Amino acid sequence: MNDVALHIQEILERIEKACIAGNRSKDSVRLLLATKTVAPERIKLALEAGQTLIAENKVQELKEKYEALKDVPHENHFIGHLQTNKVKDILKYEVQCVQSLDRIELAEKLHQRLSTEGRHLDVLLQVNTSGEESKFGVHPDQALALAKAVAAFSTLRIKGLMTIGLLSADAVQVRKCFQLLRTVQGEIAAAAIPGVEMKELSMGMSGDMDIAIEEGATIVRVGTAIFGKRPTPDSFYWNENA
Ligand SMILES: *Cc1c(COP(=O)(O)O)cnc(C)c1O
Repeated sequence: MNDVALHIQEILERIEKACIAGNRSKDSVRLLLATKTVAPERIKLALEAGQTLIAENKVQELKEKYEALKDVPHENHFIGHLQTNKVKDILKYEVQCVQSLDRIELAEKLHQRLSTEGRHLDVLLQVNTSGEESKFGVHPDQALALAKAVAAFSTLRIKGLMTIGLLSADAVQVRKCFQLLRTVQGEIAAAAIPGVEMKELSMGMSGDMDIAIEEGATIVRVGTAIFGKRPTPDSFYWNENA
């Protein structure tokens, strides 16, 4: 077995364990492969091992890998900071869900483009639960207002929320981020905004997926633990000025 397939097996076992710890069914958590910096050949190993959901952070990488992957069935999400001038591209490369919708201007641009093409798009609202400035996402206090505003765009279908937890060895602080996302989820769900679903909680990565699952994650986004260490620091993907 190749290393990617082996690591996937390990991650699936970790998901199962965390589900048991959180008293949940293991089918209630979906594994998403975060493929930034990963070559298409290695992404293919994961798809051939039975995985179906991958996600990029940059439109440029999505574009570069598109041809190599288009004949292998899979679902594509987008989890990076999306600039409004890249909206057209993202739709061209068949992204089914943008998990990183964090501002109204982006929703507006997506809606304009989707209307022109007569299409719909699933989205998650990205919430900044760690309070770190270097991460994107709407402030938790503003999430409900954003949900209401985005709901007005008929082409966008809100399915839930996404967050990047605090990158810290302090499990208590990390857990607080995930609990906060769940609180925001409850708040938006209680508002019963027509057309808005709050089913998905995309949270947890290689280092903290176990905690996230215990706190209700329905999608965990895993890169390093499957593909190995990346050559580029995450700040390149997560900072506004990078
Ligand atoms: C890179 C990335 C991940 C995966 O992180 P790992 O620590 O490599 O598992 C998850 N979510 C987002 C938004 C990312 O950019």
